[in-house]
Amino acid sequence: MTETMNEATTDPTCIFCRIAAGSIPATVVARNHQAMAFRDLNPQAPSHILVIPLRHVDSLASADNPCEVGGALALAAEVAEAEGLGEGGYRVVTNIGRDGGQTVQHLHFHVLGGRQLHWPPG
Ligand code: AMP
Repeated sequence: MTETMNEATTDPTCIFCRIAAGSIPATVVARNHQAMAFRDLNPQAPSHILVIPLRHVDSLASADNPCEVGGALALAAEVAEAEGLGEGGYRVVTNIGRDGGQTVQHLHFHVLGGRQLHWPPG
């Protein structure tokens, strides 16, 4: 299991790698050795947090480390609880590729809550 970030697992052209490295500012709400959580710049709900692996992974489709993915999802649930979303509920979603609506090519889970979310999404 990869536990540290190194040059080989960081893409200097990736905005989320740069947030993970601290070279681009973000409102960080949680961090552990494998993943971090920060507020989305363009929130779509009262609580909208992104959870990313520190290591560069393009998307869930190319994720090769189940522990890393599971760790990020566990952090998503922790962050949702800390936001007070546990009782009302919330959504965790990841977009993959063009048709999935992915705009940043670094695996991230959106944690959305604080309002009634609709289904199916657009
Ligand atoms: P997606 O469209 O699923 O790839 O989601 C990318 C998300 O990243 C969008 O919700 C953007 O608002 C968000 N985003 C892009 N740049 C930043 C940034 N510098 N800080 C925080 N959120 C960002």
